[in-house]
Amino acid sequence: MVQGSPFVVVANRLPVDEVSDDTPAARTTGGRRWRPSPGGLVTALHPVLVEHSGTWIGWSGSPGPAPEPFEVDGIKLVPVTLTHDDVERYYEGQSNSTIWPLYHDAVEPPIYRRRWRDAYREVNRRYAKAAAEVAAPGATVWIQDYQLQLVPAMLREMRPDLLIGFFLHIPFPPIELFMQQPQRTEVLRGLLGADLVGFQQRLAAQNFLRLAKHLLGTPYSGNVLEYEGRKVKADAFPISIDVGEMQRLADNPLVRERALKIRSELGDPKTVILGVDRLDYTKGIEHRLKAFRELLADGKLSVPESVMVQVATPSRERVEHYQALRVKVEREVGRINGDFGRVGVPAVHYLHQSYSRSELAALYCAADVMMVTPLRDGMNLVAKEYVAARAEHGGALVLSEFAGAAGELRQAFLCNPHDLDGVKEALMRAVNVDPHEARRRMSVMQRHLRRHDVAAWASDFLQTLAEIGNTTEIRA
Ligand code: UDP
Repeated sequence: MVQGSPFVVVANRLPVDEVSDDTPAARTTGGRRWRPSPGGLVTALHPVLVEHSGTWIGWSGSPGPAPEPFEVDGIKLVPVTLTHDDVERYYEGQSNSTIWPLYHDAVEPPIYRRRWRDAYREVNRRYAKAAAEVAAPGATVWIQDYQLQLVPAMLREMRPDLLIGFFLHIPFPPIELFMQQPQRTEVLRGLLGADLVGFQQRLAAQNFLRLAKHLLGTPYSGNVLEYEGRKVKADAFPISIDVGEMQRLADNPLVRERALKIRSELGDPKTVILGVDRLDYTKGIEHRLKAFRELLADGKLSVPESVMVQVATPSRERVEHYQALRVKVEREVGRINGDFGRVGVPAVHYLHQSYSRSELAALYCAADVMMVTPLRDGMNLVAKEYVAARAEHGGALVLSEFAGAAGELRQAFLCNPHDLDGVKEALMRAVNVDPHEARRRMSVMQRHLRRHDVAAWASDFLQTLAEIGNTTEIRA
């Protein structure tokens, strides 16, 4: 049993992946091997966790009994058990077939199942119990994301002494959408268990404040709610990336060489247009492909002068919405290549694979235009990564107004992904932008990102939380 951590992170997943081979960086525990999984969140929180003997609670990624707690890179990890049924109901069901589509503007219809809702509650209680067991008296606990919205209230009931923060990485919907949820009151009360509820955008925080007033009559002034004799603050903390890491990767000579190789493998086109997304229906991949197809058909773009590379990382493949999306996207890619490709010269290079950070950096360096056109996205880190990777090399970002990142990356070529003509126009402006103008736009966005990287995000959230609790102990 891990004892008394003053700082606890609770997230659906642990920041490690189980490996079966002899991966050099792997750690062994109880006969199983683990490799740290790189990600913005763990990068940002690693120093805080190490400094404060922190603990991270989450699922290992494999169904079945959880391994004993273990340590990786100075962080104590406490695995939570998820059975096959839990994965199907709590994770694939309630989290990814109910909440995910509902919170993303219901771009696919959310599915409501009572057994998923019940499993979600049961699994949330398991995470809350694990946190209650490891947190030291008065500890700071930071709960992450939509899979764990009930944890704040459950944990507060078990441990009223704790300072509890919650951060939602995805959008928070307007009242009329949120109200569809059969468990709407339970979810709202779950979130109100926190002292600080963080969102990606100010609009999301406002949706939350208004919802609490509407559904429970909870009064608020500014961004602080008065709930059951406590204050609950709601605010925006736009997440970011490890800007330094992406810049270092992009400056690495091997990565630059790889970028040149990619361009030459693509036939040294004039314009490389890139998309990098999880294969998710919120990402607007089909809309983007359609815009590209119409520009080819209109004769405004032509192959092989312009080619598109679309990385569509496999995601949630057991969920029905995702299986249907794959069919649609692949049909569209086939149609474009059928109509506009030639032997050895496809118009769209479609890659249904997952890439390493350095390969992604090489792709970013190789791309003249990056298309990030989600229908709705909490933030979209890919957009920020592209900007960070471009350094002084210019390049153009076409960005959906409905990505959280659009609130900060104002020098992108913004578009409404539902407006096909608008997407085509933004893409053409990006393709034809004057190189000086492109560099100017990139450098403004870069400057912003350097000041607002993921470490600043974590520090801002934790400092706000510490001020609420009137403690100065946990700061990033
Ligand atoms: N990513 C990756 N390999 C891939 C595709 C994506 O490592 O093949 C990373 C990407 O660099 C980014 C993250 O996955 O950091 C995706 O985050 P984003 O906010 O763009 O979208 P999400 O997948 O979280 O909805």
